[in-house]
Amino acid sequence: MASILSRTFRSRPYLTSAAFASVAGAAYLTTTSRPLQLDSAQNATKTFSFPKTMLFSKQLTVTNVEQVNHDTKRITFSLPGGSIESSGVPPSAAILTQHTPSGAWFPVLRPYTPVHDRDQAGILQLMVKKYPNGAASTYMHSLEAGSKLTVRGPIPGYTWQASDTPRDVVFVAGGAGITPIYSLAKEVLKNKQDKTRIQLLWGVNGERDIVLKDEFAALQQQSPERFSITYFLSNAEADAGQATGVEAAQKGYIDSAALRSALQKGEAGQLGDAKGTKVFFCGPPGMQEKLTGKQGVLKELGVAKKEVQVF
Ligand SMILES: Cc1cc2nc3c(=O)[nH]c(=O)nc-3n(C[C@H](O)[C@H](O)[C@H](O)COP(=O)(O)OP(=O)(O)OC[C@H]3O[C@@H](n4cnc5c(N)ncnc54)[C@H](O)[C@@H]3O)c2cc1C
Repeated sequence: MASILSRTFRSRPYLTSAAFASVAGAAYLTTTSRPLQLDSAQNATKTFSFPKTMLFSKQLTVTNVEQVNHDTKRITFSLPGGSIESSGVPPSAAILTQHTPSGAWFPVLRPYTPVHDRDQAGILQLMVKKYPNGAASTYMHSLEAGSKLTVRGPIPGYTWQASDTPRDVVFVAGGAGITPIYSLAKEVLKNKQDKTRIQLLWGVNGERDIVLKDEFAALQQQSPERFSITYFLSNAEADAGQATGVEAAQKGYIDSAALRSALQKGEAGQLGDAKGTKVFFCGPPGMQEKLTGKQGVLKELGVAKKEVQVF
């Protein structure tokens, strides 16, 4: 999530609210040049249709808001078709939210990756971390049941290819960058025919920043041979007295040693998914540069750029 702004604005012009017109044009080309991906939810009979281009938007209604930790809310929206409709947002894909601050000329657009279970029809759920003075996240945190939100998208994520032979991949997240990583992991592990194993390394400031803890525990319980998670707490001392029962936690940052160890474990099997991607990353700008940049840790460890998927 890196760079939320620097990276996404450089590579995804449709996120720049100040250039909304060009955004729309770019988004039109982007979205019309690829096929629609259909949702696989079994219980729903139809898929919520985002407009075919990002020139057009839809509105969703908030049904529930839950404060999940000191700075993050889980916001649930209902789909207009109710319980027979699924969101159709593919795993690890994001939607664009939009609002126009009062007095502003241009809308603010930001991507968010849904975290609801794709088999659960009728809803779309976002996990939103609030940043100090954050334009979109502050607005999102002001939403309450009954509020409407304008959405566009989806912005495609990673198209996963299952493997019937054992393979290993390393997922790396920093802070709120966990959402696309969680979304993809959940989908991969759901397919029992897929033999891919996932090691997830997740860096947070402290235990209080951990979200989706129960969901990850459930994934571990369901697929102990295919999924492991290690939390890296960079500011562990600040958490004294706030223990939340997280096991497999290490102090410090996700560094070269941690990544080397994860990659080496993977090499016992076949490192890389069916498409050859070894590491999947989503995190803040500094972490992204340090780990996946031109002089980054992954390069030093011999992982080529094309073997890294950055969300
Ligand atoms: C593909 C994708 C998926 C995303 N999914 C989610 C999601 O599911 N949940 C979620 O909470 N966010 C997600 N984000 C981030 C989200 O899109 C916004 O960038 C974030 O909410 C901040 O926007 P803002 O308008 O509130 O802050 P801004 O007004 O844009 O920025 C306010 C201040 O916060 C700083 N800042 C903003 N974002 C970050 C960051 N990530 N790390 C460190 N500093 C930052 C800025 O530098 C600035 O100083 C995703 C981003 C991408 C690219």
